[in-house]
Amino acid sequence: MTYPTDRLLIAGTWRPAAETLPAENPSTGGIEGEIARGSADDIAEAVDAARQALGGAWGRTDATDRGRILCRIGEAVRARAEDLAQIEARDVGKPLRQARADALALARYCEFYGGAADKIMGETIPYREGFTVYTLREPHGVTGHIVPWNYPMQIIGRSVGAALAMGNAAVLKPAEDASRSALAFAAIAVEAGLPPGALNVVPGLGVEAGAALAGHPGVDHVSFTGSSAVGAAVQMAAARHATPVTLELGGKSPQIVFDDADIERALPFLADAGLQNAGQTCSASSRLIIQRGVYEKVLDRLAARYRGLVAGPAMDDRDLGPLISAKQKAIVDGFIARAAGLSVAAAGRIADDAPAAGHYVAPLLLRDVDPSHALAQDEIFGPVQVAIPFDTEEEAIAIANGTPYGLVAGVWTRDGARQLRLARALRAGQVFLNNYGAGGGVELPFGGVGRSGHGREKGFEALYGFSAVKTVAAWHG
Ligand code: NAD
Repeated sequence: MTYPTDRLLIAGTWRPAAETLPAENPSTGGIEGEIARGSADDIAEAVDAARQALGGAWGRTDATDRGRILCRIGEAVRARAEDLAQIEARDVGKPLRQARADALALARYCEFYGGAADKIMGETIPYREGFTVYTLREPHGVTGHIVPWNYPMQIIGRSVGAALAMGNAAVLKPAEDASRSALAFAAIAVEAGLPPGALNVVPGLGVEAGAALAGHPGVDHVSFTGSSAVGAAVQMAAARHATPVTLELGGKSPQIVFDDADIERALPFLADAGLQNAGQTCSASSRLIIQRGVYEKVLDRLAARYRGLVAGPAMDDRDLGPLISAKQKAIVDGFIARAAGLSVAAAGRIADDAPAAGHYVAPLLLRDVDPSHALAQDEIFGPVQVAIPFDTEEEAIAIANGTPYGLVAGVWTRDGARQLRLARALRAGQVFLNNYGAGGGVELPFGGVGRSGHGREKGFEALYGFSAVKTVAAWHG
């Protein structure tokens, strides 16, 4: 598909930026073209364009027609899924089958939010004699969306899709490492009939375009997905204008395996949920908390799986791709260096023919890790999992809740009462019982507590987050 990879989309027009940034393919380390380096001025123009769209054709588009447009975009994304997957695999380095799944998830978000657009309603409130009181659910106005590089298509779908469904006009700042699927999506959206200015895309650096968007006084809501440290900076920038923010941040998510678990069912989830996208997943299950009665058995089986894992170029569709960048690899290598002295349960390998300049890390499973160790506390964002043994349910809960994060948790047990106790006790935005991730689920509200953020995206919850309630109280005697 053709779209201008080195431009900005503002008010429906593809414009050049004053400067560009190199676009690296992490599988090869080679530079494959350029992307725009949007400036604070470009962000200001994009915010103006979004405001004008709200006062123009987009603002006059009713909920049903917004839904129709989103469904058309979803259909067009589905038709172009292979093209989008190729773009994403080149930019992010993720294996092609994962990139294909991400493209279909983007289509599904557009369809889900397209279908939901005219089904969000206010309420009438029984109040004192002589009054009729009701609520209107209104869009915030101009929404800013700052997106990371690990799942650009999925995050654009859940964030921009929900914002447009509610009638907001969006300014999207994709990550400097992976901007092209955002531009391709915008090209598809314009072609499918999204009015000019309803979606503006300004790629660029976080400290330039991202910071300008977070702190712009004309932005009415900021949705940020990324690291906890940058999330805090975004919240502070937005606070200058009392702009509400949704923060979708990092995690250190556990899976807890009890002695009575269905181990055969659990095994594929235990490793894969930690290694998907080479571990660069906010909800990656990087801690495996395993009861002592099955600890050795589970580790033996996991070790066998690890020894068969191979990291290679995205286009070869191996078990894992490379990490996104040399910078990310240096961070992960730094964590692995701190594993000296810890017991290695097993490791995978890097494909012999993987380009030397690609950013590959072999998957690593560590065992008997103390829950207070940095590798059991900090988000590594690479293909490293730690196994921690436990004896009692109370101990498992304490270990699982014992990090500053709280994004996702998984529990494996056949004991129904224990499932319900843990679902309540675990500090997380999502708890999975005898599964992990539920296959992605665009319908399922998602978000964190603690250092994993606040606010919810996905599902109907996102539509509430991208709107505000206005109460109307009419006195008629
Ligand atoms: P990051 O925080 O470095 O960057 C995220 C985005 O913020 C990028 O677009 C970047 O350009 C921008 N940015 C950077 N500095 C900025 C600033 N000062 N002001 C405004 N914007 C700025 O994160 P990353 O490395 O791209 O992504 C990895 C992180 O994202 C991990 O911590 C991961 O857990 C998290 N993540 C969370 C979710 C979730 O839904 N909870 C999903 C995916 C990724």
